[in-house]
Amino acid sequence: MSVVHPHESRRQVAVLGATGSIGASALDVIARHRQRLRASVLAAGSNVDALIALCRTHQPDHAVIADPGSHARLRDGLHQAGLKTQAHAGGHALDALVASDACDTVVAAIVGAAGLPSTLAAARAGKRLLLANKESLVLAGDLLMAAANRSNAEIIPIDSEHNAIFQCLRSRQTQGDVRRVLLTASGGPFRGRSRAQLADVTVQQAVAHPKWSMGPKISVDSATLMNKGLELIEAHHLFDLPRAKLDVLVHPQSLVHSLVEFVDGSTLAQMGLPDMRTSLAVGLGWPQRIDSGVAGLDLLQHGRLEFEAPDTDAFPCLRLAWSALESGGTAPAVLNAANEIAVSAFLQGKIGFLSIPALVESTLSALPAAPADSLEALLEVDAQARSLTRNAIAGHAIRA
Ligand code: NAD
Ligand code: MG
Repeated sequence: MSVVHPHESRRQVAVLGATGSIGASALDVIARHRQRLRASVLAAGSNVDALIALCRTHQPDHAVIADPGSHARLRDGLHQAGLKTQAHAGGHALDALVASDACDTVVAAIVGAAGLPSTLAAARAGKRLLLANKESLVLAGDLLMAAANRSNAEIIPIDSEHNAIFQCLRSRQTQGDVRRVLLTASGGPFRGRSRAQLADVTVQQAVAHPKWSMGPKISVDSATLMNKGLELIEAHHLFDLPRAKLDVLVHPQSLVHSLVEFVDGSTLAQMGLPDMRTSLAVGLGWPQRIDSGVAGLDLLQHGRLEFEAPDTDAFPCLRLAWSALESGGTAPAVLNAANEIAVSAFLQGKIGFLSIPALVESTLSALPAAPADSLEALLEVDAQARSLTRNAIAGHAIRA
């Protein structure tokens, strides 16, 4: 248990995506520090029962369910559980709560572009933003970073690689000190396979990540290496780094979470067991270090650290993301939207694994990059890319 001075008030934390994998890790860390941290708002997509169960444990002031049709069920369930937690439903209610004094800290852990409005609301309201929702940065990174800068919102990246880079960059004086940033990738469950060996992989195999326990969407992204592609774009925005200073290194042990090389030849790495509670504890406690429940790293037990180059022939999603980052404008938004639709179709058994990069590539070529200076323009291209990809999937299904 942490010792907190009496004058320090408790951090009031909104956990968005509370019923998910990151949500569970965040609530685990919060519950270890009851004097310092409190979950004041919990938000989830559609699982009312799981949200009520979390409210029983964490007793937040507010609970929000995305689906407006579930409002009465949430309200009645909270009441029957004897809780004072207020029930809310819908995206607007969530955005308003995030911007209100119901919280000072926001864990943005909704999956996909669905997380953009609440992430933006937190940035605009100047909250401490623990950002796990990488898709919002890929879709609207410039706007999100500008909103955070204007309001002095403090963004602490939760994605393990970016949290590692955030920590390593503490020893930098100016942007010019950094020669390059290396994002590590586990390689996913299919590392070492050729393209031909990927044709028949199943959903079950794709979501069985060798090192990390995560939600289904990011698990598939890790299997295609799109996750690393999204992370390159994420790093570009978070740390204001050009593509030329970014690179990817496959590291199957997932113990080195990323590296920063400085102009003097020093390379700093952040290491630790693959457990998201470490990143979340950094975000929740910063600049102090607090217990996360994660054990230290016993390098004697692990023995070997290996590194290799990514195989972009077998995993073209990484190449597609590189080129979307280079094209800029609307390209990353198209990449993300097409990928979300393709991954969802793969998870539903509608398309094969190799159709994911094929669909992303065809949608990217159908919607060439254009300048993107407003949220409206980005949301419009996001919708177009989704609809094109859905149509392509429907075409596939007819031909099959
Ligand atoms: P998950 O599928 O386990 O959980 C997603 C959460 O989002 C659930 O609580 C769900 O109810 C909620 N949700 C979905 N749609 C919603 C909507 N429209 N409105 C409100 N809530 C909604 O996913 P996860 O693995 O926890 O990942 C969450 C985010 O964090 C993703 O962007 C992912 O890329 C990122 N991330 C996750 C990990 C990890 O280890 N799981 C690591 C790095 C980054
Ligand atoms: Mg990551």
